[in-house]
Amino acid sequence: MSAIRFEEVTKQFSGMPRTAVDGCSFDVDEGALVVLLGPSGCGKTTLLKMVNRLYEPTGGRILFDGSNIQDFKITTLRKQIGYVIQQVGLFPHMTVAQNVAVVPKLLGWSREQTDPRIDELLTMIKLPPEEYRDRYPSQLSGGQQQRVGLARALAGDPKVMLMDEPFGAIDAITRTSLQDEMLRLQRKLRKTILFVTHDVEEALRMADKIVVMDKGHIVQYDTPFNILTQPVSRFVHDLVGADDMVRQLSLVRVETAMVPIPDDYRRNGEPTIGCQDNLRAALSLLLRTDTPALTVLNEHDAVGILTLDHIRSSAIGKEQV
Ligand code: ATP
Repeated sequence: MSAIRFEEVTKQFSGMPRTAVDGCSFDVDEGALVVLLGPSGCGKTTLLKMVNRLYEPTGGRILFDGSNIQDFKITTLRKQIGYVIQQVGLFPHMTVAQNVAVVPKLLGWSREQTDPRIDELLTMIKLPPEEYRDRYPSQLSGGQQQRVGLARALAGDPKVMLMDEPFGAIDAITRTSLQDEMLRLQRKLRKTILFVTHDVEEALRMADKIVVMDKGHIVQYDTPFNILTQPVSRFVHDLVGADDMVRQLSLVRVETAMVPIPDDYRRNGEPTIGCQDNLRAALSLLLRTDTPALTVLNEHDAVGILTLDHIRSSAIGKEQV
């Protein structure tokens, strides 16, 4: 069962000529990070805000663990959903620890439960608690504030995280390190995440799957690799910069492009590559070692195969656009 299911979800703001979100249907698997990507005004934020009912759909429905979100009390629904936005919205008069404790407090946790949780979260986001717990937001950099916003959203251990351009206001270098940090956390936490961005490189890097939107519609829903190599239209091709394939492949993780290892697969001394490595490294290894396939490892376990043919046949699709 999918963690979140969108069925023909539509949002028509009253008095607006164009439907903001128009008949969108897709499934988000549990533990997947799905990116909503598309140009400004295509409906990404509107779609996201319907999940925690900041907006109500005017058509269709959204299922959360199989139940219509309209059947939940809004407070019950929101307790299960973390929300991170670009303007972090930390309370300026509260310390870092108090900011992170907001959700546990709402959930009625005791101090004995909350204090260790705060320290655990601050350690997780690489802000050592002894140094940062008692600081105020104004004493933090923008990137650090964003990390605290992330810790706050994770504090109640929600099943689902909604992230709306979470790194949008951050400089490019800090942004890349926050993306790495987020991917590291996600490998550990395996939350179901919906992540809005209009930054293609961020989408290719972060996503297990990407929803490409245009004018309220979903135009393609697939892995970063397939979107890059087999864009369904000129619009998608141009949006993801498929002409700059080699550069873009350096952003895509091997695990999103490999085929799962068959049960009867016997390793035959192929070179190996990590599932978190990027496809450009994989391609270069394939070409350098002149082998037809790589075994993909997660830590020490073989989890997939990546072949040159697989990449090549996908790349042929691109020429048909
Ligand atoms: P961006 O990347 O610029 O944030 P987006 O893809 O997130 O854009 P939305 O914010 O979802 O786009 O907006 C989709 C459409 O709905 C736009 O045409 C926008 O003007 C309209 N819209 C969004 N919010 C409202 C609102 N509260 N009332 C009326 N129209 C709205």
